[in-house]
This record gives sequence, structure tokens and C-alpha cells, in this order.
Amino acid sequence: MPKRQRIVIVGASLAGATAAATLRDEGFDGEIHLIGAETQLPYNRPPLSKGYLRRQEDFEAQLVKPPSYYAAQSIELKLGVRATTIDPRQKIVEVEGGEPVAYDQLLVTTGGRNRTLSVPGANLAGVFQLRTVEDCDRIRAATQRGRRAVVMGLGFIGCEVSASLRQLGIEVAAVAGGRVPLAHVLGDEVGQVLTGIHREKGVELVLEDGVAAFEGSGRVERVRTKKGRVLECDMVVAGIGIVPNTELLAAAGADVDNGVLVDARCRTSLPGVFAAGDVTNHLHPIFGRLRVEHWNNGYQQGRAAARSMLGREEPYDYVHSFWSDQYEHLLEYVGFATSWDRLVFRGRPESRKFLGFYLGDGVVHAVVGLNRGGDPDDPKVDGELKAAASLIRTRVAVDPARLMDEGVNLRALVK
Ligand SMILES: Cc1cc2nc3c(=O)[nH]c(=O)nc-3n(C[C@H](O)[C@H](O)[C@H](O)COP(=O)(O)OP(=O)(O)OC[C@H]3O[C@@H](n4cnc5c(N)ncnc54)[C@H](O)[C@@H]3O)c2cc1C
Repeated sequence: MPKRQRIVIVGASLAGATAAATLRDEGFDGEIHLIGAETQLPYNRPPLSKGYLRRQEDFEAQLVKPPSYYAAQSIELKLGVRATTIDPRQKIVEVEGGEPVAYDQLLVTTGGRNRTLSVPGANLAGVFQLRTVEDCDRIRAATQRGRRAVVMGLGFIGCEVSASLRQLGIEVAAVAGGRVPLAHVLGDEVGQVLTGIHREKGVELVLEDGVAAFEGSGRVERVRTKKGRVLECDMVVAGIGIVPNTELLAAAGADVDNGVLVDARCRTSLPGVFAAGDVTNHLHPIFGRLRVEHWNNGYQQGRAAARSMLGREEPYDYVHSFWSDQYEHLLEYVGFATSWDRLVFRGRPESRKFLGFYLGDGVVHAVVGLNRGGDPDDPKVDGELKAAASLIRTRVAVDPARLMDEGVNLRALVK
């Protein structure tokens, strides 16, 4: 009897669990071992800054797959187990407190962890960061007695946590370095819209400033800013970004540069070793090399890596996309643009219902929608973001006037 193939996946979260499920969906009948450092079944993180944080959603509803799924699919799940070493020559993964696990092919989906908070007072009780459900449970507990919060950073996590805390009736002051929230991702005009939304909901925005220190005796009582503001509070949530968990693969000799380098088929520089999700810096046929931290990428690249391990040759060319919920507003984004020479709008930004097109050399590289896409009740806007993704994929120059014209169906612009 030929030996059964064994695929080992390190990192039991969105990308890892999705890859395991895809292997089975695609008919792989060898062994699958899914090893994860967290003790919970693989779960989705987006609700941790939204409905789950506000105690509106249960943890069970956030699971990537139902509890019975893994045994039913003969996926060996090892939870609460950290992989410590990969030996690519022997094809072995060593794990903390357990027997080494041999593999035929290996997929690494170790994601990211919060950037270290190196501000004086960061170890005071009541100062939180948010990545795991346990982090979220601690913040949830603090919101039950806390009345005043400071949020540090106004990226997506900072914006969403500010919104959720306001929805829980907590006073919020948010401190960030930029002139407006999310300017580096969305530009000043869209950032201005978010400024208006958060101010209207009662968030005190402390912009073009930074946190100098957290102060208090044992527990945080105030935040001192670099410009000298003193913000009284009983809790702090810092959203200052993540770093990819590349150490395991770097130590094994894989090429790493702001993420584990993978090609368009999710292959690392080590034979038989693949990677997917937040941990990768991947080569994309449209956008070039990039690392993103989006749920849709964790899901899609997890699927792509599984297919690649089964020998399929399609490149991973998903047009990236993400969403963010803040209060009653839904922000959606497709494509990827870190710089642009023109941003044009369909719908006025002040109306809080618009599309923004990020153009470089006349070509649409990314599109943001606020309260536009995904509305099946509004036939005019439903499917717009999908059409926008097709437009990005074509990479042909378009007339900005037609992008701005509500009367022009975006699909008509897709050659
Ligand atoms: C609060 C929050 C809200 C978010 N909201 C949105 C949103 O609205 N929209 C959106 O598009 N994206 C959102 N995201 C981002 C999205 O959740 C991530 O892109 C996604 O989780 C990436 O999945 P992943 O599987 O690549 O990595 P991760 O989810 O980071 O999982 C990696 C797993 O690997 C494990 N691991 C690491 N090292 C080891 C090791 N050595 N051994 C074993 N296991 C290991 C980790 O413990 C972890 O369980 C949000 C993220 C957070 C934290």
C-alpha cells in the first residue's frame, strides 16, 4: 500500500482552517494535521471589534467551521499547541510539549500579532490590545465597569473599537497622529467623512498628536499626549497595527521581507512549504508584491494554497477587498493602492453614500464605497463593488467623467 500523504498546517485560524476544508472539498484523502497555538476552535476575528465586542453576537457564531466538522472530515486538530521549529530537510515540525510531526507538504498560516506597545505605563491594568477572543473578553469585561476610554490609533481597529465603545455608551477620546482617520489608506477626503461621522457620534478626536504615557497607580487613570493633553480614562484600547509571525519560517531558512515571501502559487522559497493569509507577502499578478491583512484574503488565499498543494497551477489573482463597519455605516474597498494621482467620486462624499475611485495614470487601482455596495434593496448600487473589481482587473484607462456619472453603469466600462 502506498503511504498516505500528510499535509501539516501550522496556524489554526481563518486561512489554516479554510485550507484544511478546501483540501477535503477538492478530494484530498490523505492526513491533515491542523496545529494552532490558540485553545479555541478556528474563529473569525472581525466581530471582535464589532458585534462580539458589543455583546450582540456569540462566540459560537464566529467559528470558521462548526465544532463537529473537523472530526467528521478526519482533520486532526491540535489546539493550544505552538510549533517551535521547522526542519525543511527532515520535513518535520517540532511542537511545544509534544512529539515532532512529520509532513509531506507544509502550509504555514501563522498570521500576525499585535505590535509591541512601547509607551511608558503600557503594563498598567486597563491597557488593552485586540487580536484574540481572549483580548476581546478582557475588553468586554472592562466595558462593564468602565465609563471613559481612550483609543490609541485610528486605523480600522481603532475606528471600529471607538464606534463599538460609543455604541455601548462609553465616552471615547481617540488619539492618532494623522490629520484625519485612515488618511494613509483612504486619503484625506474620505478621512474627513470619517472624522465627521465619529465626531457626530461623540468621539473626541485628538488628531496630529500621539500618546506619550499611560498613568495611574496600578490601573490606568489617564493618558498624557505628546502635545500635553491629559485624558482621564478607566480603560485604553491601542490599535497600532500588527507584525507578521514570520519567525518560524525565517529560522527554517525561508525568504522573508515584511511577511513570508510566496509566489503566485503560495509557495515559499522552501520546497514543499506553502504559506497563506496575513503572514504572507505575496506576488500578485495585478498588484505586484504585497502583504494585506484582510479577512477575504485569509479565506481566498487559504483556498488557493490548498489547491496549489494539490498540484493546480492557477495563480492566486483575487482582486483584494475588505470591509469595515462603523456605527450604521458600511465601508467597502476593492483593489489596492498605496498612492494615487487622482481620486474621483461618484456621489458626494458629504452625502455619506459614494464611491471613490483611486486612479493612477488614468487606470483604476482601487475603489472605496461608503454605504453603496451590497445593498440588494437598491438595484442602482447593488453589485457596484463587484463591477469595480472587474474594472480594476482590466487595467485599462477610463474617462474619470464616466466614473463620476451616476448614469453610467460601471459594468459598461469593463471592456
Ligand atoms: C479585531 C479585528 C477585527 C478585524 N476586522 C476585519 C474586518 O472588518 N475586515 C477585514 O477584512 N479584516 C478584518 N480583520 C482582519 C482579519 O481578521 C485577518 O486578516 C485574518 O484573521 C487573517 O487570518 P490568518 O488565518 O491569516 O491569520 P490569524 O487570524 O492571525 O491566525 C493565525 C493563527 O496562527 C496561530 N499561530 C501563530 N504562530 C503559531 C505557531 N508557532 N504555532 C501554532 N500556531 C501559531 C495564531 O495563534 C493564530 O491562531 C480583523 C482583525 C481583527 C483582529
